[in-house]
Amino acid sequence: MKKKTEALNIHPSIDKRVYRVKNPAFDFFCPLCRMERQVSYRSRLSPMNYLQIGMVSFVLVTLTFAQMEAYALVWPFIVWAGFEGARRLLFKRDVPCPHCGFDATWYKRDVKMARQLVSNFWQNKKNTAEPPKTSHPIR
Ligand SMILES: [Zn+2]
Repeated sequence: MKKKTEALNIHPSIDKRVYRVKNPAFDFFCPLCRMERQVSYRSRLSPMNYLQIGMVSFVLVTLTFAQMEAYALVWPFIVWAGFEGARRLLFKRDVPCPHCGFDATWYKRDVKMARQLVSNFWQNKKNTAEPPKTSHPIR
């Protein structure tokens, strides 16, 4: 692993441990720091999610059809929107690189913001890495 990362010419201050996830959706290399990355969720819904949406919608429509009548048929769209929103939030949570702070979703929308996020990441890392000035802080 050490030879592999040296061959890729990775910056020395970047943590070279690879963060592994359980059942990764896909593997890739961070475009900024070149470290190997894995994310556990895709941005799109899987066929299993559509099956779950169908089942949850069916139950909700059957339970509420007596009171709501035809308005109960709006449940599948509400459940679908909920699943889409949850999937996108989980994907966005996974995307920022733990090594360098690069967020590909922000880079796609706003390059300046993505650059600011990377800068904030390194500033935070620098601040947390500094040793305390005194061993017993004054209260
Ligand atoms: Zn990175």
